[in-house]
Amino acid sequence: MIDLQRRGLVMAAGGVLAASAVNPGWASTGRKLGYAIVGLGGYGLGRIIPQFQNCQHSRLVALVSGDPAKARKVAQEYGVPERGIYSYSDFDRIRDNPDIDIVYICLPVFMHAEYTIRAAQAGKHVMCEKPMAINPAECEQMIAACRKAGKKLMIGYRSRFEPHNVEAIRLARAGAIGNIRYFRSEHGFVAGDANTWRMKKAQSGGGSLMDIGIYALQAARYMTGEEPVAVFAKETTNRSDPRFREVEDMIDFQLEFPSGAIGSCMSMYSANRNQFVLMGDKGRIELEPATAYSGQRMWVGQERSDKTEVKPPPGPYANQWVGQLDHMAQCVMQNREPLVPGEEGLRDIRIIEAVYRSAREQKRIVVRS
Ligand code: NAD
Repeated sequence: MIDLQRRGLVMAAGGVLAASAVNPGWASTGRKLGYAIVGLGGYGLGRIIPQFQNCQHSRLVALVSGDPAKARKVAQEYGVPERGIYSYSDFDRIRDNPDIDIVYICLPVFMHAEYTIRAAQAGKHVMCEKPMAINPAECEQMIAACRKAGKKLMIGYRSRFEPHNVEAIRLARAGAIGNIRYFRSEHGFVAGDANTWRMKKAQSGGGSLMDIGIYALQAARYMTGEEPVAVFAKETTNRSDPRFREVEDMIDFQLEFPSGAIGSCMSMYSANRNQFVLMGDKGRIELEPATAYSGQRMWVGQERSDKTEVKPPPGPYANQWVGQLDHMAQCVMQNREPLVPGEEGLRDIRIIEAVYRSAREQKRIVVRS
């Protein structure tokens, strides 16, 4: 079992900015690292692929898809050469393509471990979407495979590169709201089709918590800067709704932090909401939307009723997706550990496992670190 405590992985406050410092020698070469996108679905094709045109250090060089006609069409649109098109069965041939430096896994959760491990064995660095995998054991296998191959592994936690979130973390660590006492977040959207992989437990690992509530959990950890020691959870799901035959709708979870601060999060597949508020003994920081694709707003207040909108300084990247893509490329070029490595994904999956167990057993569960 991987001991996260011993590895001393602490969520660094100014990590994004520090990690984004560009090695001048390398920057002047103008080399961009090549990404292969695995899975041309809503996120891979709809969100990630269009961002390469805005990147300074990353370029799209390969596509992996089960649909050759779609792959060819996307390749044509984005200038990916014929030799950069792969299917799932010939995926391992990426080993022979020197254009590919990093493989970005945008597949359903149950495929994350297999493709991460195959990519590492093919000698490539890996970016894997959240949630990292179905369970902690798979996360550990992914970390071990990348470590054995000497390759980097990063999880696609894009909010860590979003300027409002980065500034909120900076303010909290700088003591702008005093001692942190309480974090509250609701994250949810109204899930549609009952027949997608998201609604099948074996393919998703769980319901709203694995998909959207994980943002509340991540934010609870990066905003407090602490790791929860125990959780208590309650699930509310209408099992007669065809969408929720296998996975949960609402799950309400409390997090106990070592300082005495409390986190209170609600994850939902039946209501639209995206916000968090961090409270200290000298004020509050609120974000809404907090972790959406765009439109973030932030307020800081001292007294009970006052609040002032705060605009963050522009980040080093064009947007959060460019941030995560270029950050990983820079980490590879400079041989640095990504801000959100595999161990970070594993932490969340371990806490999620404890949250599900707490809801099932209706008792407080101590989180193993
Ligand atoms: P999607 O269903 O739209 O796309 C999944 C892709 O995987 C499709 O191209 C599909 O053809 C392919 N696939 C291959 N084998 C499959 C199989 N056996 N079953 C189903 N699909 C198969 O899903 P998505 O929304 O693109 O999500 C992909 C990943 O991205 C997930 O891990 C999800 O959690 C993550 N995601 C992250 C964000 C974010 O903001 N970071 C947003 C959305 C999705």
